[in-house]
Parts: sequence; structure tokens; C-alpha cells
Amino acid sequence: MGGQFSRVIVTYDPNGSLVNMHRSQGSDLGLAGGLLGWEADDPRLLEYESHLQRAGIEVRVCYESFGADHPNTYHLRLTNPTTEHTLLAVSLGGGMIEVRQIDDQQITLTGGSYVLYDSADRKLLAQSTKPFEPQQIKAFAHARLLKPVLPVLDSDGSPDFVNGSQMAEIGRRRGLNLPQLALRHESARSGLADVQIREQVGRVLAVMRSAYEDGLRGTSYADRILPSQVGGLQAARQQDRMVGGEPMHDVIEAITAVLETKSSMGPIVAAPTAGSCGVLPGTLLGLSRRIAWTDEQLIDALLCAGIIGVFIAEGATFAAEEGGCMAECGSASGMVAAALVYLLGGTLSESIAAASLALQNSLGMICDPVGNRVEAPCLGKNTMAGLNAMAAANMALAGYQHLVPLDEVVAAMNQVGKALPRELRCTGLGGLSVTPTSRRIDLRVNGVTQRLENADLDRMNVTTGR
Ligand code: SF4
Repeated sequence: MGGQFSRVIVTYDPNGSLVNMHRSQGSDLGLAGGLLGWEADDPRLLEYESHLQRAGIEVRVCYESFGADHPNTYHLRLTNPTTEHTLLAVSLGGGMIEVRQIDDQQITLTGGSYVLYDSADRKLLAQSTKPFEPQQIKAFAHARLLKPVLPVLDSDGSPDFVNGSQMAEIGRRRGLNLPQLALRHESARSGLADVQIREQVGRVLAVMRSAYEDGLRGTSYADRILPSQVGGLQAARQQDRMVGGEPMHDVIEAITAVLETKSSMGPIVAAPTAGSCGVLPGTLLGLSRRIAWTDEQLIDALLCAGIIGVFIAEGATFAAEEGGCMAECGSASGMVAAALVYLLGGTLSESIAAASLALQNSLGMICDPVGNRVEAPCLGKNTMAGLNAMAAANMALAGYQHLVPLDEVVAAMNQVGKALPRELRCTGLGGLSVTPTSRRIDLRVNGVTQRLENADLDRMNVTTGR
């Protein structure tokens, strides 16, 4: 569109989750921010509606069946007085978006490459991981350049392992530990040097730490269900009213702090997703209060967690709309378990075993947010995932048998996700989401009394303007 559009029609298929969740879970913030050309942490995001208005962009949201084969499918029709283009994209979880179609052109675009698109003939001209030369662009009369949006670009390299057993084999043969293997994989994938990768991960750690510290100080935000509760935990600790040891309290406190920063719309790291953003930083930074891990060690730990996440993303999913909370908090738990084993001096096999155990314990976790907000039961599930990771790490370090290899557990996770009823995969149509209390909260915070139910789907082609 050359940056010029005055009207955007966004269509969500009622068989997916976005009909019920796009507003209450903040997807509209991301979409509007993208239309306005903003970064993901732009402080103006919360007031996007007035900015769209000022920019002269009308956004209309429709609910209409169009046979979307993914529950998080966005169909956009952008117009200005002289032209119109359509775009189809899916949200894969963890902030990743894949554009699958522009006009009638099938495409795979995840924001990590340069694309030349012919806006007149409506066809893909070229896609590259390297910038185009000016003469390449000028060679086409109607070429539009789409620039990458991700901090790490795609590369042509391919890693030499794609799952846990291949990684274990290479680690054994070459004498590499888990963070070294993670660096090897990331370097092959991105083309970045180890030192650049560690710098990127260091930036991730810094955001995680500030989310934790902000949350500890107490957060406030009018439009949320739960108040800040971290202070209650601190008071109960002082009064010595709780079971469990200090490290456990530290972890629960840290997970709560990060989740509360998220619920007050502060910057967090979706690792692997926003809903499960408390598990990884909360467990590592909470335990850091008593075990003085250095930043370099914590960067290593994030690399360990990341490579387990890669295997889950390859073999299953991070999207709750496909795999329930097993995909979010379950994945986070497996990632943290492997990282903890590394930090505690365990072997590569023990890390992989811990990830397997933590994931085994998470199969079948449903996603049924109360009031269609990512607050409850999300806080409890984040906490459970952190403590599960600690238990799995301890069991692996103690030599417990995990029996089922990580890759097989990931495959089982994928199969369980497919077997979960749609009502229990982040649609707001089952579990806690449909309790009378949840409906009352939904009405109070979202102004909605009834969500689209299964029966509604048969008589779809509803168009709702906003
Ligand atoms: S219950 Fe659903 S929304 Fe909440 S953390 Fe789990 S997957 Fe995310």
C-alpha cells in the first residue's frame, strides 16, 4: 500500500479464537500498532484508537466464515482511494506472525527477510535474507520493498540438529554442553556470531529483570481483573504463615511479580508466550536471590531454555489455541527445567530428561481464561509450571528415570493438542471461562454477556462493526 491506506477490514473466522479473544487478550493492540508502523513496546499502544483516528485509518472488524485452517487467522483488506490489497496471516504464538498470502499470491513471510512485491501485477518478485541493491528494486516499475521486522533475520544456513536426540548425539560426539549446542543451532539458523547471540540474549535478560523488579514494587492498572497481590505474599512470608522453603516462596513471588507487570501492560518477554511470561524469568530470577548466578550463567540458562523451546516449536506448538495451556505454561516448564539442571551442574542428558519430565507432567492442561483475560487461572498455572520445573530438575539430577524421550513427549504433546476440544483451547467457551463468576467478570470488564458459542457457528456470516 506504500504506507497509504484509509480503511482496513479485519475478518476473523468464528471457528477460531480471535472472535472472542482479539480484544480482551490485546491482539487488537498488536494489529493496530502494526498498522500504525509502531514497535511492539511503543508506549502509545494503549491509546491506539485515537491515533488510528488521527491517522485517518478506519478499522472495521468482521466475523465471517472463510474456511480458515488455523485458529489464529487474520484476514485483512486494506484500501485507499486508488488501490486495494488483501493479506492473510496467522499468529503462531510467542509473538510470531506468519503471512501466508498477499492478494492471490501464496507466500511464507515471518518478518525475517526482505521481500520485493509487484503491487500492480500482484505477485512476489523476490525474497531474500540479504538487502536488495537499489538497481534490483529499480528494475521493476511497481516494486514495493517489504523490510524485515524481526531483530534477527532469517539466514540460508541450516542447523545440524532439529530435535533432542540429534542434539544429544552431536553433544556427545563433540563434547558440547547445552548452551554451546544452543549457540551452535542459533548461529547456524541466524548467521550471527556467538558473541552477537549472547548480546541479544543479554538484552532479553535485562527486560526480564526489569519486569520482575517493576512487579515487585507493586503495579497498578485500571483495566484488569486481579489487583496487585505480590504484597500479600511478602506480608505472609514475614508472618511465617506459609509451607515450603524460602526458594519456593522466592519463585512464587517472582512469577507473580512478572505476571503483574504483564497485566499492567508493562514490557515483558513472551518466553515462550505472554500468558506464560512469568515461568522462565520468575523461576530463574527468583532462585537467583539465594544462588548467586552471574549474568553470564543466566544467559547460558536462557540459551538452554531456548533450544528446548525450538524443539517444541518444531514438533508441537506454543499457541494455546492449538494446544491449550500445555503449549504455553507446559512448554515454559520444560524449558526452565532444562535450564535449571544446567545451572545446578547437571549433564546434557539430565537437562533433556528434566525437560521431558516437566512436559510429561503438563500434557492436557487446558486454556480457559476467566473473563477472557490472561490473568486467571494464568497466574496459578505459571506458578505451577515454575514449581513443576523445579521438581523435574531435581528428579533428573537425582537420576530418576524419565522413560519417554523428549522428542516422543513433544510428539505426544502435538497429538494431545489436536485431541483437546476446541472449547478448551483459548476460545472462552469451556472450563472456567463459562462459570457464572467468569461470565460476571466478563460483563464487568469487557461489557460482554455472552460469547459466541458452538451453536452460533452454524449460522455464521455475522458482521460486526466497531
Ligand atoms: S490459561 Fe490460557 S491464557 Fe492463561 S496462561 Fe494458560 S494458555 Fe495462556
